[in-house]
Amino acid sequence: MAIERLVEPTAAGNDLDEEKIEISLRPLTFSEYIGQEHLKNNIKLAIDAVKKRNDGSTLDHVLLYGPPGLGKTTMAGVIAHELGANLRVTSGPAIERAGDLASILTNLADGDILFIDEIHRLRRTVEEVLYSAMEDYKLDIVIGKGPAARSVRLDLPHFTVIGATTRTGSLAGPLRDRFGIIHRLEYYKEPEIEQIIHRTANILNTDIRPDAETLLATRSRLTPRIANRIFKRVRDYADVNGDGIIDRSIAEGALKLMEIDYLGLDPADRNMLRLMLENYGDRPVGLNTIAALTGDEATTIEDYYEPYLLQLGLLARTPRGRLVTEKGRKHLQNPENRV
Ligand code: ADP
Repeated sequence: MAIERLVEPTAAGNDLDEEKIEISLRPLTFSEYIGQEHLKNNIKLAIDAVKKRNDGSTLDHVLLYGPPGLGKTTMAGVIAHELGANLRVTSGPAIERAGDLASILTNLADGDILFIDEIHRLRRTVEEVLYSAMEDYKLDIVIGKGPAARSVRLDLPHFTVIGATTRTGSLAGPLRDRFGIIHRLEYYKEPEIEQIIHRTANILNTDIRPDAETLLATRSRLTPRIANRIFKRVRDYADVNGDGIIDRSIAEGALKLMEIDYLGLDPADRNMLRLMLENYGDRPVGLNTIAALTGDEATTIEDYYEPYLLQLGLLARTPRGRLVTEKGRKHLQNPENRV
């Protein structure tokens, strides 16, 4: 059985309160959006140019890529807000047929923003409709069947697609080429994560001491989504085991309970590394084999476990598979490193 992760989108549960908190924590403006300065500067420039032209032209299509939880969806919201545009949200797997996309597109208005999460998971037939829609705001649809079928070309409003993906490699070349602005989101720096935790504590009216903020920032995998999730769990722990104030010892106790180690790895990460070492030692292991060992989907491993472990150098990618590095082996072997 796969272990529940702090990293995955589903880990927050479907709780209504959780959802409300999630929405209240989402930055709406560039000034609230912490870090990713390079991305912000470039997008700001593009937005200012559109505003200055004021000739009805729209923002170029934007592709944001990078590991989950770094703020791609949030950035789409910020862009819409800063442009004063409507935001329509969908995702690659949610658009099952070309007809579904056609109905989304024909319901847009000039200047609207269409956010497509997991855009690399669009079906080929849907993708092809999207090409011409993005390119020249036309929609080609076939009406009728057999010999009576005819093709009709519809004009679409001038809209902007913001696509988000964890992997650009899986995106078809022609689709990628339709984006004028392409940006990679980077892992955050620890002081930025500290600022995010500070902001979250303020919004949720929780008293947190600076040294506790620093500690939580070091355990959050340099990822805002994880920082917020850990924060919420620590807040619960502080309510139950103290007077609600998060100080260093409360933070330490909660992290211990969650079994998050000093690098931010959780039991699922350590379990994966351990299984790889126990079964394959220093031989490379294929993605599907790792998935079979842990009981996860291969895509879950690729999207959620791997990026941070690669970033830390605990895992390496070789042409023949994944390998636990010497650093990874040492991390697992030293009990001091655990929690
Ligand atoms: P992604 O779409 O890349 O998976 P999200 O945009 O859903 O990530 O971000 C996850 C959560 O992290 C958001 O709900 C938001 O509260 C928080 N977050 C993301 N980026 C930032 C940021 N730059 N500043 C503050 N909070 C952020």
